[in-house]
Order: sequence, then structure tokens, then C-alpha cells
Amino acid sequence: MRILKGNPVSRGIALGKVYIYRAFKADVHESYFEAGKEDEYYKKFKDAVATAEKELATIVTSMSAESPEKAKIFTAHTEILMDEEVDEGVKEMIYESRAMPDYAVDEIFTDFANLLEKAKDPLIAARAADLRDVRNRVLRILKGEKESNLANLRENVIVVAHDLLPSDTATMDRNRVMGVITEIGGATSHTAILTRSYKIPSLLGVTDAVQIMKNGDNIVLDALAGKVLLDPEKEVIKEYQEKLVEFIKEERETSEYLDKIPLVASGERYSIGLNVGDTEPEDGYKYVDFVGLFRTEFLYMGSEYMPTEQEQFEAYKKVLANAMGNPVTLRTLDIGGDKTLRYMALPKEDNPFLGNRALRLCLDHMDMFKTQLRAALRASAFGEMKIMFPMVGTIDDIQAANAVVAAVKKELKAEGHAFDEKINVGIMIEVPSIGVIADLAAKEVDFASVGTNDLTQYLHAVDRMNPSITKYYQSISPSMLRILGRIFSDFNKAGKPISVCGELAGDDIGAVVLFGLGLRKFSMNAANIGRVKRTLSLFTLEETKEIASKAQNMSTEAEVIEFVKAEIEKRNL
Ligand code: PEP
Ligand code: MG
Repeated sequence: MRILKGNPVSRGIALGKVYIYRAFKADVHESYFEAGKEDEYYKKFKDAVATAEKELATIVTSMSAESPEKAKIFTAHTEILMDEEVDEGVKEMIYESRAMPDYAVDEIFTDFANLLEKAKDPLIAARAADLRDVRNRVLRILKGEKESNLANLRENVIVVAHDLLPSDTATMDRNRVMGVITEIGGATSHTAILTRSYKIPSLLGVTDAVQIMKNGDNIVLDALAGKVLLDPEKEVIKEYQEKLVEFIKEERETSEYLDKIPLVASGERYSIGLNVGDTEPEDGYKYVDFVGLFRTEFLYMGSEYMPTEQEQFEAYKKVLANAMGNPVTLRTLDIGGDKTLRYMALPKEDNPFLGNRALRLCLDHMDMFKTQLRAALRASAFGEMKIMFPMVGTIDDIQAANAVVAAVKKELKAEGHAFDEKINVGIMIEVPSIGVIADLAAKEVDFASVGTNDLTQYLHAVDRMNPSITKYYQSISPSMLRILGRIFSDFNKAGKPISVCGELAGDDIGAVVLFGLGLRKFSMNAANIGRVKRTLSLFTLEETKEIASKAQNMSTEAEVIEFVKAEIEKRNL
């Protein structure tokens, strides 16, 4: 079994077969015809336009009643298709240069799309995708090919594609498509917007998904934890079937807790944070007190090139605008290990998780690091932003990163840019070497957030991506609980905010123990908020303290899990 990671943009679980979808790819060459055939070729173009118009009209009609919003996308496509400038451009190429219609269409549409792409407004730039979509439709018709789309599927599938065009997503057969996985898909991606509205679990930014998976492969799409499990064993399938049933049931039950103030049974208040991986609005913002983790790498992974400072600035500003007043903790680029960028060639390493990743890589690629910090700082003028560094191992790391922030602030000031001069800068605690000197680290930072996913990996010396050793991956082991207790108490003593943004905070067993160990800030995926609030409401502070201290003194993780689970079940009856 192999595991791939991605950005869950539409939550849920799907089990099933892969359907690799490749959109029509036009093979257009520069080509011309002999004089005298101008009328014939222009007519060919006009006929193709007429057919395209009919196809679009059919889509609009079939969609208008159910989803007028989506139908609008195709009305816009019709407008692009009928645009006079496009017609004139193609006509001119056919009559003046005797360009073959497909070549003329390709040239004219591509020119317009390139122009749009350069627009400063990312929303306008994203419309280039619509132009390319219309171009492909006309080219396909010119080639005499039938529409190949996701609307006529014969069985239930999980669609895997490099990217989906708006028309692919909007027309897909929602009864047959159980999940969507794409290699790219950014902030304004239609795929994200549409799959969310269809409630189809989807994962974007899964590097090389189309190369790695084949038609008919059995997979599990976990769009809660953000991973795809390839060729899962029987037990894993069974486990996920149960998770799916549980997911549906819990969705119903726990949604009642979303709105409630986060309190334990004895009245102590704690805060819930949200983990996000994109810039889109989401319901989760309504139910939280802060954004404890904004994983910026998905922005980089969802792009075909290194995002520019301006693009990043716009994206970060957008997150702040969508966050409903919640402070946003922006984690600087966490790449390397399992996360790669297709446009950034990194030397192959024997042990990538122990290698040049995250903050180390940023400190090694100063231009890239500074660009991100400039964008983040500039965005901080538009809402409460915090900056957080991943994979910090030493105090030297913190000092080096802080020095870059100071240098970037100086630059921005000299250039007259506005930014939050008092911006909070903190670290992730996910390497044990910094965890055991949390008291010293607390002096160097404004806050910290524990990444229990990596902390488990490094504390237990277990590769988090290696499915053959999952039994060693113990995020709630007595060793984890001891180091966590120490980190919380060091930060609490220093009066510096400490949170957990790893998966453990969103796990109800984990949350009970973490509360007892002194944690009051839990950051998680939106899908977990209701359940954690509900579980914590069942315990008093004293009870959680007692449970945590007992758990720290147990011998094995299995004992801890069994014990806390029983405590929860007892109160659930
Ligand atoms: C973690 O390590 O716990 C964490 C939140 O970061 P990521 O899962 O992105 O490595
Ligand atoms: Mg991590």
C-alpha cells in the first residue's frame, strides 16, 4: 500500500476504482491551405462554432433548473465563443494568411488567454481557463471528435486527473463520481468550488497522481486527513468502510455542537482553531477562534510555477478576508520530505524526512524564503496574521529565521510598504530536539504550535509515509504524552501561547488527554470541530487531569487508547 498526500478541499471518504481522465488534447500545428479555399475553411470554422453553441446550450439547459450558478459558467463560455473579436481574429487569419481553421483558432484563443493570464486580478487571470476550455471544444469539433466528458460514466469511479476544466467538473455525473483527485488546482480553482458544492470528496495538489495511478486501481480517498491509499489491504478497506459509516453518522450528530462555545463540563473555556490549506471561504471559519495552521505549500503545489510575491500577497490577503476576523497563522513553506514541487528540482536524498526540508530548505533558498515573507508581511496590513516556521530543530534555526524576518521588515519599510510591525512570529514544535528545550525556545518566540504528526515521526523514529510500519507510528504513546506535557507546561509558565495543530488535536481521544496536560488551543480540520467540542463537553477539568496523568504513566499506547476510549464511552451512554 502506498500513500499520496494532497489538499482536501471537499471533505469525505470514498472507496473505489480509479478512472484516469485526460481531457481532449489538441495537436495543432502551424499549417496553411492553398488560395481559393478561404470561404470553405471559414465555413468550417463557423460550423464548428455553431455545433459548440448547441453543445453549450444543451449543458446550460440541463443545468439551469438545478444549479443556475453553474449554468452561468457555460453561458459565459457561449459569450466567449460568440465574441466578435475572436471571430474577426480567426477570419483574418483564414482570409489574410490562409491559416488552417484549427491553427487559427488555437492562435487566437491562446493569445487572448495569455493576455488574461497576465492580469493582476487573480480572478480575471483564472478566466484564462475558460477561454482554453472553449478553444478545446472548438478544436475537438473541428477534428470531428465526440465530446469525451465525465457525464457518461458506466460505473462508480474516483476521477483522477491532472486538472479538470470547469466544463469537466460541472457536467460530471454526480451519481457516478465518488471522489476527485487532481494534481493541480489552486485558490480560484473551479474544481474546488464545484466539488465542494456537490459534496464530492476531493483532494487537489496530489503530485504525479496521473502517473502513479492507473485505470481500475483500487484506492481509498481520505479527504478528511488529506491522503490517498493505493491498493489498500482488506483490513484497511474494512477500516475505511467503517470510517465512512461513522463519518456519515457523526456528520449528523456532531453538527449540533459546531455553534456551541467550547467549554468543558466544569466550565473552563478553551479555543478551537482551524487548519486550512487553501484560500477559499469555508464554513469552518464560523466556528473557530483562530486559524492555527494555514499550510501555504498547497499554494505552491497547486501552481505550475513558483508563485510570485504578488500572487502570494493576494492569496494571503484573501485568506484573511475569508477568515471572518480570525487571526491567521501562516506557516512558511513546508516542502521536502513527502512534498515536492514539480518546478523546483531538489537533489535526491536518501532520507528526505531527515534532510533539507521545510525551514532548512527555505534558509537554503533565501530568495524564495524572502519572497514568501515579503508577501506574508505585506498581507499582515490587512488583518491579524502570524508567521510560523516548520521543522525547527535548534535555537540557531529560530534565530536564523527571525533574522530573515527582521531583514525583510527593514526592506519593506524602506520601500514604504505597510505591514504589521508587531507581527507575532512563532515556531512549530515537531522535532524532539526543540521539544525538550521548549523552555528555552519559548524565550525566542511569540508562540508555538505542536505538529504532532511530525513529532510522532521523529520521536518514534518512524517514517510517517511508510505504511508497513504504521504500528510504530504512535501519536498518543506515553512518550508523546510526556514530551507534550513538558512542552505545554514550559510555554504556559513562560506565558506564551501554545497550541497543537497536528492531527492529535482533532482526535477526540487525543483532545481529552491534551486538555488534561494543560493545552487550551486546539487547531484542526473543520470536519473534526463538532466531535471534539462534543467530547470535551463531557469531561471536567479535574477528570481530564487525572486521565492525562494516568495515561502518561501507562506502559503502552494501546493501554492509553483503550483507557481514554472507555472514559469517553462511559460518558456517552
Ligand atoms: C504536523 O507535523 O503535525 C503538522 C501539522 O504539519 P504537517 O502535517 O503539514 O507536516
Ligand atoms: Mg509537520
